[in-house]
Amino acid sequence: MMERDIKEILLTEEQIQARIAELGAELSREYADKNPVVIGVLKGVVVFYADMVRKITVPCEMDFMAISSYSGTNSTGKAIVKKDIGVDIKGRHVLILEDIYDTGNSLSFTYEYLMAKEPASIKICTLLDKPGRRKPGITLQPEYVGFTIPNAFVVGYGLDYNEKYRNLPFVGILKPEVYQK
Ligand code: 5GP
Ligand code: MG
Repeated sequence: MMERDIKEILLTEEQIQARIAELGAELSREYADKNPVVIGVLKGVVVFYADMVRKITVPCEMDFMAISSYSGTNSTGKAIVKKDIGVDIKGRHVLILEDIYDTGNSLSFTYEYLMAKEPASIKICTLLDKPGRRKPGITLQPEYVGFTIPNAFVVGYGLDYNEKYRNLPFVGILKPEVYQK
């Protein structure tokens, strides 16, 4: 049982879905008539992405990219593009969907990388934000935040620990002994 490794449920399925419905209403207003390209950063975003786009009631296109910058529980502070987007975003409105904004390295990298492709605009929607972990010098601030959470390592709802726990339907804090195994 994966649940056995969870110390505390931080966000229940119901809380997450309620917040996504609110965000969906905001995003649908913002992107009416803009036909945005909604870009998900793999793999942590997949569960949030699938739920989020279904609450956007205006036309949009979907694409994905993958970057590599994180392993285990320690951010390396560097990123490379492992999978690029397939849509030409020049002149397009872009909405980046992310699972979590932590030190800020990954999203800042993604933002700069996509900005270089000259879109008409980029806005960021992250399910989770851990402002207490932000690296000095990172100024990027997501326009849309699902939940602001404390400085704990969380899993579930797409987020993994060593590729495990992504399929938990809630966001939870892992028991510390799980890291020590
Ligand atoms: P950054 O530190 O660059 O803002 O976040 C990089 C990536 O680290 C996130 O996209 C996410 O994949 C991972 N990450 C950051 N905090 C957590 C966390 O609490 N739990 C999990 N599972 N991944 C995290
Ligand atoms: Mg991620």
